[in-house]
Amino acid sequence: MTPLNLYDVSREQLRERLGEWDINPIHVGKLWNYLYVRQVASVDEMSELPPRLRARLRDETTLGVLPAALTTDSADGFTRKFLLGLTDGRRVETVKMRFTGRVTACVSSQVGCAMGCVFCATGQMGFTRHLTAGEIVAQVVHVSRAVKLAAPAGTPVASTRVRNVVLMGMGEPLHNYDAVMHAIEILRDNTGLALGADRITLSTVGVVPGILRLAAEQRMLRLAVSLHAATQAERAALVPAARKWPLDELMAACRAYSEATGRRIFYEWALIAGANDTPAHARAVGALLAGTPAQVNLIPLNPTVGYDGAPTPVPAARAFQRILSEEFNLPSTVRQRRGIDIGAGCGQLAVTERA
Ligand code: SAH
Ligand code: SF4
Repeated sequence: MTPLNLYDVSREQLRERLGEWDINPIHVGKLWNYLYVRQVASVDEMSELPPRLRARLRDETTLGVLPAALTTDSADGFTRKFLLGLTDGRRVETVKMRFTGRVTACVSSQVGCAMGCVFCATGQMGFTRHLTAGEIVAQVVHVSRAVKLAAPAGTPVASTRVRNVVLMGMGEPLHNYDAVMHAIEILRDNTGLALGADRITLSTVGVVPGILRLAAEQRMLRLAVSLHAATQAERAALVPAARKWPLDELMAACRAYSEATGRRIFYEWALIAGANDTPAHARAVGALLAGTPAQVNLIPLNPTVGYDGAPTPVPAARAFQRILSEEFNLPSTVRQRRGIDIGAGCGQLAVTERA
């Protein structure tokens, strides 16, 4: 029997398991605390649990801690990238980003990606497999432990916590819907990692059935949709998935999500010089989104080996923003370029198969 990965189960499921083992479910609180507050690295460190429970855990479960095969820091010290090993020898990348007063974990949902966006290094490597919920949760725990270790002694616990999680690493989260939703449920638990609705951002290439399911299930998230172009033809050239899920269907699904949840949607736009960054492009996306609950996140293109495009220079990015706000009353941001020197920027994550 494959042992149960402790990061793969919700607190409720863990409580049930204790019941099956004929152990008082009251101990689930302490066990959960070891996993997500103290973040211990092995069952041996759970010294305050009853011996009978520890024995069960040792015999029938594993703690799916992901060892770092490589850790790289950006020159400015704000970004750290981890290459994490999975039990089958595959690897994923996870990024810790430090902004003033908060730490964000950027986590992967798949090894590789099947969506093939032309400018994305993950897309260029193709799809290997989905991650389990436990493998997604373990990435957040890994970043969280790194934050704790780096904090000077005496730092208040609250300021050593991972404050935000963005599902913007390798992979398309809505292509791995069930595992991602289960991971989110675990990340949310308010006695554990306690990441609330506004602390988890899920970015999708525009998997329409997935967005409709989020709407039907009223999933409270920060939903980000990778738009990149405002016409079907231009979008399909950058994002092949748009051929399967055309722009009009995507916009209808976004409307359904906003109506079901009352939440605004973040639209991502990789600014590629000459390709989608002219005033005419700004007006096209402005007209598409005006009047809807939207914010546009502009990301100057990051370099990848398989794509020749260049990032839009800052003044043109500012001009794009001005058109959105002055002519269409649409809020937007230009994403800070972080971790580009270590290949940790948006769309730069990729791993090669181990020889
Ligand atoms: N698969 C999801 C999430 C991962 S990618 C998605 O596509 O939304 C996170 C964001 O980075 C997406 O908006 C994606 O379009 C963008 N991106 C990919 N490659 C990029 C690049 N080279 N430069 C800038 N942004 C990029
Ligand atoms: Fe996959 Fe997102 Fe990269 Fe597209 S941008 S290939 S959907 S990870």
